[in-house]
Amino acid sequence: MAQKSNFEEIYTFLNEKFSDETEYLQAVHEVLEDIVPIYNANEVYKAFDIVKRICMPERIIYFTVSWMNSEGNVEINQGWRVQHNSAMGPYKGGLRFHHTVNLSVLKFLAFEQCFKNALTGLPMGGGKGGSDFNPKGRSDRDIMLFCQAFMRELQRHIGANTDVPAGDINVGAREIGYLYGEYRRLNNRFEGVLTGKGLEFGGSYVRTEATGFGLVYFLEAVCKQKNTEIEGKTITVSGAGNVALHAALKAVEKGGKVISLSNSRGLLHAAEGFTDKALKWAIDNHANRENVLTDMADKNMGEWVSDKKPWHLKCDIALPCATQNELLEDDAKALLDNGCKMVLEGANMPCTNKAQTLFLDAKIVYVPGKASNAGGVALSGLEMSQNAMFNQRKANVLDDQLYAIMESIHQRCVDEGKSVGDENHYIDYMKGANIAAFRRLADAMVAQGV
Ligand code: NDP
Repeated sequence: MAQKSNFEEIYTFLNEKFSDETEYLQAVHEVLEDIVPIYNANEVYKAFDIVKRICMPERIIYFTVSWMNSEGNVEINQGWRVQHNSAMGPYKGGLRFHHTVNLSVLKFLAFEQCFKNALTGLPMGGGKGGSDFNPKGRSDRDIMLFCQAFMRELQRHIGANTDVPAGDINVGAREIGYLYGEYRRLNNRFEGVLTGKGLEFGGSYVRTEATGFGLVYFLEAVCKQKNTEIEGKTITVSGAGNVALHAALKAVEKGGKVISLSNSRGLLHAAEGFTDKALKWAIDNHANRENVLTDMADKNMGEWVSDKKPWHLKCDIALPCATQNELLEDDAKALLDNGCKMVLEGANMPCTNKAQTLFLDAKIVYVPGKASNAGGVALSGLEMSQNAMFNQRKANVLDDQLYAIMESIHQRCVDEGKSVGDENHYIDYMKGANIAAFRRLADAMVAQGV
């Protein structure tokens, strides 16, 4: 019998069940607004109760990570893997190690990941995992011991055709190496069970760069659509990690003037723009510095301002690349007041609902991370296919593939995000991304039955 679902009923159902999971409800709310009308117009989707099923994780794994640190003391952390949806392929999504990690954060990330992965056109389901372990200030040996203990628990739930984690905040090449080594030792198998691996053991060229580079390729597609170009534009970037630094480098290569980087402690402002040399130095050094931005300031690569974010700086384009909910309503107002015309998310859900609404109401370009930062997972998908074939493609081939995938995601968003009858041809990229991904995911679920 067809379900008579609508936005209110579905959201209330989820809100009652998960009322304390604010990040998860925020992510779901944002998507529901766009997809419920499509759902209500489709009797098959309704008969299969697709929206509620898309919102609920298929499985959540929780485990305790008890481990002995390098000083012989026992430490206890929490670990999770949210296996959200596997209709389109193995669960796929990163691992985050951060003291703020909790189930709500991982559920929001896993939910978003399903939509992002659907947009890439590659056969990947969605998941996310991590731990409340805080790696800041820990020795290399402690990091290795923690990664090994984490993998001892996680390994029984993952596999190259089941669930393929990757990196996320504080999980980079070093951590993936330790995690992979432990998986291989325990299972006696060399397989593509993690992506973001080292090039010597099944890793892919361009994976490290892919999220940041892909973000700028998406920006280039937006610029083409609007008959403009990146060259000569002033760009603010937040974050100083993998995504931010590679986005900044590629934007500078394309002729943009990138004037900021930031972290949880402050802002590095380069009024004349960072050079590619400065950004390459940061890329080579950020993983092993306590604060790469103050080190850059010491080298006269910019001016350090404590406890500040970049959003008050005048710019044409803003690329938030640090973390969720880092760009608030007042930040959005400041960007708009200063004439910012485009906001493309490198991080996952960096703009709050109120900030998003201001951008959409002002009819500037606003692109959600699920579309604009999908380059990372797209390259992970290509790493999986290289692993399955036991080969390694060349960097230029993969960079071309990344470019093509970002262009195709842009086109999917344009096709579904066009405003009918609007003479200004405004593209609602959020709506476009949500609907394009939803249709693919919903069709896959319907085809496979309940
Ligand atoms: P990293 O760990 O490499 O870098 C994170 C950066 O964000 C650091 O500079 C960190 O500063 C900063 N940061 C963290 N919290 C805050 C905060 N509250 N305020 C300001 N700055 C903060 O992570 P990634 O670059 O890999 O990831 C960044 C974002 O991109 C995340 O949202 C992630 O989910 C998303 N993403 C990452 C992908 C990837 O391939 N890596 C793929 C797709 C999305 P500090 O050192 O001071 O904590």
